[in-house]
Amino acid sequence: MTEWTQEKREDIVKRLHERGVNRPCPRCNGDKFSLVDGYAVFGMVDRLEDESVRNMIPSVCVACSQCGYLTFHAMGTLGLLSKDPPQPPGDKQIVVE
Ligand SMILES: [Zn+2]
Repeated sequence: MTEWTQEKREDIVKRLHERGVNRPCPRCNGDKFSLVDGYAVFGMVDRLEDESVRNMIPSVCVACSQCGYLTFHAMGTLGLLSKDPPQPPGDKQIVVE
C-alpha cells in the first residue's frame, strides 16, 4: 500500500474537524487520535445469506492513541469520493452521501 502524504492526511483531518469531529474517545476519554493509513471498505448485503455485496462504503479509520478504539467515517460524507468509487462485483452501486 502506498503511504499517504502529509497533505492528504491534513486534508482528511481538516474535513473531520469541519464536521465537528472533536469529541474525546467514547471508550477511554482519551483526546489523542491518529488517522490510520489506508481505507476500510464495508460491504453491505441485504441478507446475511447473500453471497454478493450490494453496496460498498469506503471509509477512513481513526484510532484512539490511548486504547486503540477505532472509528470509521464514510468518505462520501467527507467529500472524498471521486466519480468512480469502488464497485461491488456485479451488482449496482449506491453511493452513501
Ligand atoms: Zn480510547
